[in-house]
Amino acid sequence: MRVLILGGTGEARALAAELAARPGVEVTSSLAGRVRDPALPAGEIRIGGFGGVAGLTAYLAEQSVDALVDATHPFAATISAHAVSAADATGVPLVVLRRPGWSAAPGDRWTRVPDIVAAAASAGALPAGCLFLTTGRRDLAEFAADGTHDYLVRTVEPPDGATPPRMTLLLGRGPYTLDGEAGLMGEHGVTALVTKDSGGELTSAKLAAARDRGIGVIMVDRPPLPAGVTAVPTVAAVLDRLGYG
Ligand code: NAP
Repeated sequence: MRVLILGGTGEARALAAELAARPGVEVTSSLAGRVRDPALPAGEIRIGGFGGVAGLTAYLAEQSVDALVDATHPFAATISAHAVSAADATGVPLVVLRRPGWSAAPGDRWTRVPDIVAAAASAGALPAGCLFLTTGRRDLAEFAADGTHDYLVRTVEPPDGATPPRMTLLLGRGPYTLDGEAGLMGEHGVTALVTKDSGGELTSAKLAAARDRGIGVIMVDRPPLPAGVTAVPTVAAVLDRLGYG
């Protein structure tokens, strides 16, 4: 049984570890290659894009892949769409793993917005202050026209495009603690948090810290799953779908 995992998430690594430990399973994890020093999953690894749907389709056929698991980040919409098309073209079964999104708790002051453009518009309309921005380096250009606010920006890799003019940059990839996030917000005088609904526990402490400090959150909704796709929420559910439950 040859399984290809489209990865780049903690869940993808956990799944790779589970599958690599099972006799008769050959697991390969695919990473996009965006991070210079990625956490590496168990099993085989390939790095870099496939070359669109055609490339992924050819890879599935050439490598005699028996099952494809899309365990990419909830905001990685392009590769998820490609996975559906390549699975359709080859007949390789596809399982889509998506960790659940975050839900507001009592005391939260969230404004949900549909995309990063709407997030930048909402952020720009806030009173002057310091905005803690954790939406990722590739979305920073959307905030580059905002000269009104100070931005505390945290990314995994350094930005390589336009950034907000008044920016303090932190590099990091979690996990983060409540004390750490609360301390950071206090130190920088953060007045609002702008983030996207990634879900998961590794980066959720900022939400509790914002709640405790009475700080509003602009929350970018996830892009929709490809049409007709139903995702499963856990590694255990993927194993079950693959017949290893
Ligand atoms: P994306 O916009 O959906 O994909 C853009 C292109 O990157 C794809 O067309 C594909 O290139 C390549 N690609 C993406 N994921 C790949 C993978 N796992 N293996 C091989 N090629 C891949 O993806 P993205 O948002 O840039 O995310 C890239 C990777 O980072 C994903 O694997 C995701 O799990 C991880 N990640 C993303 C975020 C986020 O916020 N977007 C956060 C944390 C981790 P080709 O068309 O050439 O095949």
